[in-house]
Order: sequence, then C-alpha cells, then structure tokens
Amino acid sequence: MDENRRLSLQRSNELHAYGQDFLDKKKDIPLGIADPYLARYETMKAKILKELGASEENWNDWKWQMQNRIGSLELLEKILTLSDEDKKDIATVSEKYRWLITPYYLALADPENPADVIRRMSVPCIDELAESGIADPTGEEHTNPAGIITRRYPDRLILNVTNSCSSFCRHCQRRRNIRQADTDALASKIDESIEYIRQNTELRDILITGGDPFVLSDDFLEDIISRVRAIPHVEMIRIGSRTLVTLPQRITPELVRRLKKYHPIYLNTQFNHPIEITPEAKRACELLRDGGVSMGNQMVLLKGINDDEYVVRLLNQELLKIGVRPYYMFYAKNVIGTLHFRTPIRRGMEILEYLQGNTSGMAIPQYIVSAPDGLGKIPMNPNYFVREDDESITLRTWEKREVKVKK
Ligand code: SF4
Repeated sequence: MDENRRLSLQRSNELHAYGQDFLDKKKDIPLGIADPYLARYETMKAKILKELGASEENWNDWKWQMQNRIGSLELLEKILTLSDEDKKDIATVSEKYRWLITPYYLALADPENPADVIRRMSVPCIDELAESGIADPTGEEHTNPAGIITRRYPDRLILNVTNSCSSFCRHCQRRRNIRQADTDALASKIDESIEYIRQNTELRDILITGGDPFVLSDDFLEDIISRVRAIPHVEMIRIGSRTLVTLPQRITPELVRRLKKYHPIYLNTQFNHPIEITPEAKRACELLRDGGVSMGNQMVLLKGINDDEYVVRLLNQELLKIGVRPYYMFYAKNVIGTLHFRTPIRRGMEILEYLQGNTSGMAIPQYIVSAPDGLGKIPMNPNYFVREDDESITLRTWEKREVKVKK
C-alpha cells in the first residue's frame, strides 16, 4: 500500500468513528417522520378523532383544526395522562395565560410522559408563573413608528398582522401579545403601515408576521401581501409562520397559488425538534417549494427540548431533506413566563462548535442573541482564532487542532 493510501485510510477511520457516534446517538432521538413515533402519532390521531367525533377529512382541513383546538382541561385529560398536580397547575396557569393546541400538534405528544417535548412546548406549566423576566426585553414597543410596524434596521421592517396563532407556544417570545382574545390588525393600522413603507424608500424587505399570519383567511392575507408588493422599492417579502409545525394542513394548493403571484417570497418557520418533522409537514414544505417559496428555520434554543448537539444536528439534517434551510438558532430572551426554557448562552456556541465539521455548512444556522432595547441581532460565533505573529496566524480546526496559516 502506498503512503498516500495508508494515510487516507487512517483518516477515513477517524472520520468513520465521528460519523458512527451520531448514528448511535440518533437512534434515541424521537423523529416524527419515522416509526415508532409515526405509529404513535397515528394512534393519538385516532384517539383524538374519536373524542371529537370527527373524520380523516376533518383532520386534513385546517379550518376544522382551528375550530377544534384543544384548550380545556376536560378534553386534554382524555388525551394525555395527567396527574392531579398537573391538572391543578394547568388550571392555575390558565387563569393568567391562554392555551390552545391544534389536534394535529397534540397528536405528536407522548401521552404518558410529562417531560415530552411537545407537551412542554404546548401544555401550560406552573413555571410560567415565576415572576422574573420582562414582558418586552427587546423593546418592540419602542420600535413602532407607525401602525403595526416594528422597525429595528435601516432597510427592513416587520408588520405584525395578528396576535393569533394556531397553537400558543409555551416558550413564545412575544407572549405579551397573546391576550385573552385574537385580534387581527385593523384596516386603518394596515393602511397607516403601508403608507409608512411607501414613504420610506430605503425599505426593501418586509417581514409579515404576528402572531402567525397564516391564521388569517387567504383573502385577508393576500390583500396585505399584494399591497406591499405593489410598492416599487419593496424587493422581497418574508412571512414568519409556525403553521408548518403546528398546523401544516394550512398550506393548501390555493394558498400557494396565491403566494406565487408575489415572488420573491421567503417563509421563515420554527421547527424546534425532529419530532415535529412529520409526513404532513413534509407535504406542506413540498407544496411551498413547488410554488417557489424558499424556506428557512428559526429554531429557538430551549432547555430540555433541543439544548443538545445531536438533537440539533438531526433536526437540521432532516429539515434540509424537506427543503428547509436552518437559518437562525435564537437564544431565548429574558421573557417573563418562559425563563424555565432558558439555557446558558454558551450552550448555543458549544452546539455550533459540534456542528462545525460534523455536518454540512448548510445544516449550521447562525446563533443569535437579541440585544435589549431593540438594538438588533448579535451573531455569536465560536472563536477559531488562537494567535498571530509577523509571519503567520494560528487557528483552531473543528477538531480542535491548532494549525498555522502563513500570511
Ligand atoms: S407561533 Fe410564534 S408567535 Fe405564535 S405562540 Fe408560537 S412562538 Fe409565539
């Protein structure tokens, strides 16, 4: 064997060991698109349909899903096993915070496990009543120059078109907006916002979000999108929606047909765990992709959900398989009622360090900490720079080997 082949095989063995480590770990991570979790979902779905006296056709209808969201303890305890303490806690938290879960999303839960990730992201927990944290840590209320706008950057802004969502996430970073009733933006506020965009010609990128804009009717949503698109200096429209995760039935051929008229349209969503990647989510992503909508994922780093490098790696690899590019990994903000989901900031950097080299660059999102007072996103990167002298700089590789690069 020549020396080159010998060295190549030696390296190949090292790389094989890294790869094998992930294959071993991923066996234990729940993934919604494969058994046994797919079979569990089908069982849960049948149970919920029976409780609601509904059909498969109902299940696939997003309006039925919205009308039949689960938000009562009486119904929830028929679907999940709840202890007396769980029930007492849910009732107590309900007095302060609203909760609603689509039948589809609840069907992804493990009914017997109180620590199940779907349950933690959707069922109220007593930790939400902790007093610490603030309602609006990034000062969105102070970045509202007109109507329903949040503006933090020179060339882009956000339109908050509704405070409603298909399911109310327990970790929601805009929790202050989820009041006791759903409120879509008033026509006068939309008019005022559109006029502001028209008058500020540096604005080229408009993000339509909420809440979740896909809970609006096709007509209402199209009216807003078409008016934004008609402004000559608007180059692109982005939509922020978690319905791909909590209500993928919302992505209908009719919705996609309407979106197609206003390209370029980008959709940012929020898958937080591989259990959320299901055949329904895949179908929704395929429809959007076929309609030319590019999709990105904005994961929120959450304690006990995805603060694990193997979970994030599997999530991001599976997302790429359904055409969603991992875009951001957000550090959870200091939002009142959600602090039990917070990790140390460093955890996100450790996860990025693991991803680098172990998986393709396309599966590596940017890790973001949001600055207080609306001062914008701060990208957080592991440091690969070691030192510098007159002739060279010393850098660290993904395997933590130091290498010298000549200047
Ligand atoms: S979908 Fe988004 S805005 Fe709505 S509750 Fe979940 S995280 Fe909050």
